[in-house]
Amino acid sequence: METARSSVIVAIDGPSGTGKSSTSKAVAAKLGLSYLDTGAQYRAITWWMLNNGIDVSNPDEIATAAAKPVIVSGTDPAAPTITVDGEDASGPIRTQEVTSKVSAVSAVPEVRTLITALQRSIAAAATGGIVVEGRDIGTTVLPDADLKIFLTASPEARAARRSGEVKGSDLTATREALIKRDAADSGRKTSPLAKADDAVEVDTTELTLQQVIECVVTLVEGKRVAA
Ligand code: C5P
Repeated sequence: METARSSVIVAIDGPSGTGKSSTSKAVAAKLGLSYLDTGAQYRAITWWMLNNGIDVSNPDEIATAAAKPVIVSGTDPAAPTITVDGEDASGPIRTQEVTSKVSAVSAVPEVRTLITALQRSIAAAATGGIVVEGRDIGTTVLPDADLKIFLTASPEARAARRSGEVKGSDLTATREALIKRDAADSGRKTSPLAKADDAVEVDTTELTLQQVIECVVTLVEGKRVAA
């Protein structure tokens, strides 16, 4: 059905391994929307800190350096990009080292203030609409989003998906690392991982990726028609 509205903002939050990125990208591509991976931005700033000798166990050091790197996100869902000071960071931000340090960096309020402002400016510039995925999009970054989705899945399902993505990884170790990261993300003081009161919760444990995509597309289309 033709949409009644040209632009829609969709916030997709949830812990790691729930299928957030795959779902968000596919939904954006299908509906002709832009796409923003906010986790990639926190990973990018973490990568820069590690490369520049910042002690990531020291929040003061992180806070002082937070404004230095220039992070640019490309929002085409078919080919999302991320650069730091002009350098392609899409590969290095996925290393185990960055993954294990990103929660400490993203918990620092100065980092969140800067990255949140960047995310809002990207969403505002996406005049055709955007799918933004992360941990605090519906609660903090875009509280007026047209549709908020919170994806969940059992820790077992999430660990199995993550170890499928990372070559040679051990399932038990992946599960433990994931639970630890989620606990840090949910327990931090500044905009923790949380479901917004008005978010639609989708448990993906028993669903295929295709089913999750269809479910979210239906929800977005319902919003657009209702608007
Ligand atoms: O989504 P991804 O696993 O790549 O996110 C990496 C990390 O970035 C998360 O574990 C979390 O610490 C941080 N993050 C955040 N807020 C967001 C998105 C990600 O704090 N909106």
